[in-house]
Amino acid sequence: MISHETKQRILDATRIEEVVGDFVSLKKRGANHIGCCPFHNEKTPSFYVSPSKGIFKCFGCGEAGDAVSFLMKHEHYTYPEALKWLAAKYNIAVEEEEMTPEAKEAKSERESLYNLTEFAQKWFVEILNHDETGQAVGLGYYHERGLTDEIIARFGLGYSPEAWQAFSDHALKSGYSKDMLEKTGLTIFKEDGKYYDRFRGRVTFPIYSISGRVLGWSCRILSKEKQAAKYVNSPDSAIYNKSHILYGLYQAKTAISKADKCYLVEGNLDVVSMHQSGVENTVASCGTSLTVEQVRLIKRYTQNVTIVYDSDAAGIKATQRAANMMFEEGMKVRCVLFPDGDDPDSYAQHNGSTALQKYLAEHEENYMLYKARITNMDIRRDPIRKSELLQDIINTIALVPDLMERTEYIAQCANIFNIPEQAMATSVARAIRNQKQKQWKQQQEAQAGQEAQSAEGQSQPAAPTESAQQSPQEAESMARVEEILQEAQHNEHYEKHIMELLVRSGNEKIMWPVPTADGKEEECDWDVASVIVNVLRRDGIELENPVYKKIYSIYEESLQHGTLPDSTFFTGLDDENVRNTAISLMIEPKELSPMWAEKGIGVPSERKRLQQDVKESLMSFRLRRLDQLLERNAKDLKEADDPELQMELMRERSVLMAQRLALGKDLRIVIG
Ligand SMILES: [Zn+2]
Repeated sequence: MISHETKQRILDATRIEEVVGDFVSLKKRGANHIGCCPFHNEKTPSFYVSPSKGIFKCFGCGEAGDAVSFLMKHEHYTYPEALKWLAAKYNIAVEEEEMTPEAKEAKSERESLYNLTEFAQKWFVEILNHDETGQAVGLGYYHERGLTDEIIARFGLGYSPEAWQAFSDHALKSGYSKDMLEKTGLTIFKEDGKYYDRFRGRVTFPIYSISGRVLGWSCRILSKEKQAAKYVNSPDSAIYNKSHILYGLYQAKTAISKADKCYLVEGNLDVVSMHQSGVENTVASCGTSLTVEQVRLIKRYTQNVTIVYDSDAAGIKATQRAANMMFEEGMKVRCVLFPDGDDPDSYAQHNGSTALQKYLAEHEENYMLYKARITNMDIRRDPIRKSELLQDIINTIALVPDLMERTEYIAQCANIFNIPEQAMATSVARAIRNQKQKQWKQQQEAQAGQEAQSAEGQSQPAAPTESAQQSPQEAESMARVEEILQEAQHNEHYEKHIMELLVRSGNEKIMWPVPTADGKEEECDWDVASVIVNVLRRDGIELENPVYKKIYSIYEESLQHGTLPDSTFFTGLDDENVRNTAISLMIEPKELSPMWAEKGIGVPSERKRLQQDVKESLMSFRLRRLDQLLERNAKDLKEADDPELQMELMRERSVLMAQRLALGKDLRIVIG
């Protein structure tokens, strides 16, 4: 449909950093621009755009391509749609052929829906500006709310007349199908064949995609009818998913990036009012309570959000919910409370733009402090619920992923509640553990589901052609890879169990044999960590898993100072990998009965069980490693031609054999 020549002109004009920059906040770094990837969820930018090469690449999720594929992926455009978008951006005329009825039909459903929403949008605006009733009722309403013609045009505000079928008949006459009218939700069809306009008698607020296409509407009633809903919204469709879009984002995105901050308000009119008052970095969730997808949408442009919800009980509750979601995404949250009964729209109407801006600037506060203040007030009012209220704020602090920030909040809140900082920190650490445990459980459940699925897939016989085509060399190398993988998994299993004992039960005491001066041995009280580190060190056995190795070395070092790391130590680590691994080692369910964990280590028989567990784990781990070393030694011996090397290997072999023989007996701790 688009000629080769035009295509080339479009691609020549395209600057990838400008195209991507319309959707992602980019910062220049050297020859590249970088930002947070819009295709996966990330907190530190790993999304690179190279203007000279005309490509983008995410080092987090691997997504890569050029400007056209970016649009196809990000906006779900087809190839011609992406080209047309670029043509519009760079003012290049695209000569399109006259469409035949067949071609019209062949167009994707999405494109048809977009055509219809564009058609309807033009009509609502036309009625507002040029129809007598539209001007009197619709425009009259907007003007009464203090909106200027400029802002009305910028947000594409319109009016749908009171008549039952005015729009539907107009659309049907213009060749749009009943099917499309129903799918966009513009028309409601009844079983008896009757139909009517969904938005009749309402002012229309179009909802735009990030790139400015109309997806649907949110429409406000003007009549005083008590039964009718104040707002009616478009239903979800192939082009509109209300939980994935924010009202006003299309108009706000540049301002959000520039200010590196976003105001989140409750209603459409609040958004429009804020923009008119010069606060253009403002969005709202469209007729739904805020979703994670919407939070991540904001995060593409900025990490800083100021929530400006109503100050009634419902508004405060919604603010807390939104703030928790944002903390979990690692964002910085502030909030502004308006005087009772006021919202940004009414405040601007009564006091003007400058006063609104001033109010926002003066009343913005750190969300955590705001919450602590409110909680403290509640505690004074209702001391019986004190611990419950405190737990609530502790849970919120625990959601903050950044350690520095968390520490700061702990200090501030401890001060407000007049409780020791250490007590607050301990409670937060416990809350983090609980949250992690919950997450871990959910992950396990999800994983179990996946495994069940892939197991189903495996039960189907493998395609015979594949193995038939494999050369013997290929088959051999495949088998070798398999072997290595299996071996790694095997080692992983042994290593993991040792690590679990170390991290989970490292502080617990067991009886362990120690040689005495007269060459005999006696059993002494030892903590599990000392036993494990001591025995492995004596045999010179190292762990293979690099993360386990790091955790292990933390224990080695701590033991030299006579201390052991506790759980708060690990939850506070900066290295995400080490932290998460340590935490999952800590919280995975014990193989021992849960009764044991509840009762603690005072129960003698349980203590024996732990002792036995440590002994068996160390034995099987050492056995495994010794066998591996013996195997390698045998292989080296077979290949060695040099007699001296052969001798050396033989000596090594006898030492290994002796160690292996002594394995059961020799788990004694060597002191010094
Ligand atoms: Zn990515």
